[in-house]
Amino acid sequence: MPDPTAPTPMMAQYLALKEEAGDCLLFYRMGDFFELFFEDARVASGVLDIALTARGEHAGEKIPMCGVPVHSATAYLQRLIKAGHRVAIAEQTESPEAARKARGSKALVNRAIVRFVTAGTLTEEALLDSRAANWCVAVGEAAGGVAIAAADVSTGRFEVIACSPQALGAELARLAAAEVIAGEGGDVPATVWRPREDFDSGRGEERLKRLYGVATLDGFGQFDRAMLAAAGGLVAYLDHNGKGSLPFLRAPVIRRSAETMAIDAATRDSLELTCTQAGTRKGSLLDAVDRTVTGAGARLLAADLGAPLMERGAIEVRLALVAAFHDDPDARARLRERLRALPDIGRAIGRLAAGRGSPRDLGQLRDGLDGAWLLAEQLSTVRTLSPVRAEPVEARAEREALGARPSTGSGRTGEGGDLLSQLTPKLRGHGELIDLLKRALVPAPPIETSDGGYIAEGYDAALDDLRDAGSGGRRAIAALEARYRTEAGINALKIRHNNVLGYHVEVPAKNADVLMKPDSGFTHRQTMAGAVRFNAPELHEVASRVTQAGAHAVAAEAAHLEDLVAAALAQAEPIAATADALARLDVAAGLAERAAEGGWARPSLVEHPCFEIVGGRHPVVEAAVAKSGERFVANDCALSEGSRLWLVTGPNMGGKSTFLRQNALIAVLAQAGSYVPAASATLGLVDRLFSRVGASDNLARGRSTFMVEMVETAAILAQATLNSFVILDEVGRGTSTYDGLAIAWAVVEAIHEDNRCRCLFATHYHELTRLAERCDALSLHHVRAREWKGELVLLHEVAEGPADRSYGLAVARLAGMPPATVARAKAVLAKLEAGRAKTGGLAAGLDDLPLFAAAAAVIEEARDPLREAVEGLDVDTLSPREALDQLYRLKALV
Ligand code: ADP
Repeated sequence: MPDPTAPTPMMAQYLALKEEAGDCLLFYRMGDFFELFFEDARVASGVLDIALTARGEHAGEKIPMCGVPVHSATAYLQRLIKAGHRVAIAEQTESPEAARKARGSKALVNRAIVRFVTAGTLTEEALLDSRAANWCVAVGEAAGGVAIAAADVSTGRFEVIACSPQALGAELARLAAAEVIAGEGGDVPATVWRPREDFDSGRGEERLKRLYGVATLDGFGQFDRAMLAAAGGLVAYLDHNGKGSLPFLRAPVIRRSAETMAIDAATRDSLELTCTQAGTRKGSLLDAVDRTVTGAGARLLAADLGAPLMERGAIEVRLALVAAFHDDPDARARLRERLRALPDIGRAIGRLAAGRGSPRDLGQLRDGLDGAWLLAEQLSTVRTLSPVRAEPVEARAEREALGARPSTGSGRTGEGGDLLSQLTPKLRGHGELIDLLKRALVPAPPIETSDGGYIAEGYDAALDDLRDAGSGGRRAIAALEARYRTEAGINALKIRHNNVLGYHVEVPAKNADVLMKPDSGFTHRQTMAGAVRFNAPELHEVASRVTQAGAHAVAAEAAHLEDLVAAALAQAEPIAATADALARLDVAAGLAERAAEGGWARPSLVEHPCFEIVGGRHPVVEAAVAKSGERFVANDCALSEGSRLWLVTGPNMGGKSTFLRQNALIAVLAQAGSYVPAASATLGLVDRLFSRVGASDNLARGRSTFMVEMVETAAILAQATLNSFVILDEVGRGTSTYDGLAIAWAVVEAIHEDNRCRCLFATHYHELTRLAERCDALSLHHVRAREWKGELVLLHEVAEGPADRSYGLAVARLAGMPPATVARAKAVLAKLEAGRAKTGGLAAGLDDLPLFAAAAAVIEEARDPLREAVEGLDVDTLSPREALDQLYRLKALV
């Protein structure tokens, strides 16, 4: 007797597939639906907001189930992936008829997982953001080193990045990957863990050699063990997800994290380079700069801003192209107009290579490559200037006076050459493929292939014949319908088609008698509610001609499609290179457009650590201020080896943060190869950029914010070099006044004496201004404010010297605090200030501080509670009783 608790054969098959799917949700194909069972069904029905039902029983319990129609599965997949899930797709791998034929009438259809859909391995247009890259990243560790391999399978981009363990976090933050993979047991922030052996460097090397069909990887550059481990682990994961069919991977490009400006995760967050802290693109630097007109251009610009360059020559080459389009508005407008019309060929070739391409993708290649060719012709009129911009005379004089090392950048600049003349050849050279696709495809090929109709007339004579037979047949059927109507005398008679009966004659039930007669020549097939259906020999004959010709035509088109896809894929690498070239042009023209729109300047890059900005602006704040009808106040900044550290004081809301950030953003833009929002800018290359904001601005983060602030500040002190640029905004504010002041004091000292980097430090601790007396490269600045008729006017203007007063109460009034409370605060302030004058102020004793002492500890010592209590006594106002109480209190302090 069968065990009643044993799973049914279908359940057994399901459970085996689920085992293979692991922690992915399993989409189990049943006819026109993908079904989910058990916990998967609970999860999916919740995320997708679809009904949870039950089906049969398993181990005595009802099986929870939900399902999505196959034809709309993409939309559901999208929501599941967005919600952080991964999905295994199990398809039927044979038809029900084949199963019956092979294994009897009750046979179960064979099923297998054909693909894992995960956030990092998508190629479907509908599932991807056209303006953002979609990185799948693997972290490899070997021989004490780490490396990152990153693939964007939607375009085939494949990068292997050598990085130090310290730089790992910053690189991962830059890539903002959809998935991060690592070998089990590793100590990295991965989202998906894969078997350790996939990350073995020896196996990785073999895997890469097989993938590219090469005997040695030397042609791609120098791989170390960790890089092989990372790349091998990534390829193994992609192979696993595609169930053996790998997505499109171009030749790996080797990068080193030291080639780009190091920007750690906290700095990226705080500067909102490509996305705001709230997670939106709107409000970010990228959004304020982006004037690209293609998806590929937007993706490249995001990558550029996320990874500013460190080599002056390479930056100058980019700047020269921007300058060429900046100085030639007509050429720029023509280029952008053409680019705007071009399809995204990078992603089209990605889909074709992944085996999920359609005739429409081939159509996009045809139009895109054709358009690129025309662009190349058009660009021949654009004049590029020499990419090398002479270092300004004053800057060179200053550098030489300071004995700085000679410029190494200008020597290398020439190697980059003229970017435009490198790019244009890549736009041409697909003539044969374009011709082929032009001849083969209809003007607007469909995505769906099942009905054919995408191969153009005249491409294949045999196909045209089949189509003629088909359409001739359809004409014959129309003629037949007319004849049957007259002969039977039934005007409502129709010839129809469906999948069950094929072509058939249909008449209203009330007219059916005529055709029911035995000698009518019609055979009864089906009686419906209001109609009756018949077959007829002549119709049958014509119909089978039509159907057959149709099926043959569809098959012939499919064969052509396969050949055309193969022809396109044979050119995958050069097509991808064309896509890259188009994206680079779009970025350059877009930056030129932005620069022209905002009156931005081409930055001068020099080899010594200076930072001279005239009339600098913050592109995001400027746009916001302009929206409310006000004018943004441009501000200068001048840091040099002799004046490295600016201490900026002034009232809240005065514009300190904005000033700090705009300068950091100018460094990012300049090294990404963009013009900058300033009247002029001269800067020495920044190797590391740091931005920290005092804790109270960061409350939303929910961790011990002061702790976070301290950890992040410690990182700066450990990492900032002579060539770094640091902005610190109200650091120390997240704790008590004394602690905060002490920490801020010590941090400023350390940066000034040890790191010696360029630094802007905003603070409301007035006491810090005393540091100017002992730190010779530190200077004092403030944002100006004025009280006018009792109102506070914030001028947003950065001026020299310390702020004369704090304006805190005026800001409170500005913020809408009730007048009575402000008046009370004024009285309290007067008392406090009177006390401070007597005691020498909060920073009493700071003057005696030896430089470099652990300032925090010393300040703590300097703070004598007994002395403070005595000094705080206003003896004249005490009653004898109060005086006695105070004596007891003082004794307790001893
Ligand atoms: P703080 O850091 O001193 O508190 P913020 O830099 O946050 O001040 O600036 C507060 C507001 O002042 C900004 O949101 C902006 O609206 C305005 N603001 C800042 N800088 C400028 C400027 N240079 N020109 C015009 N408005 C500015």
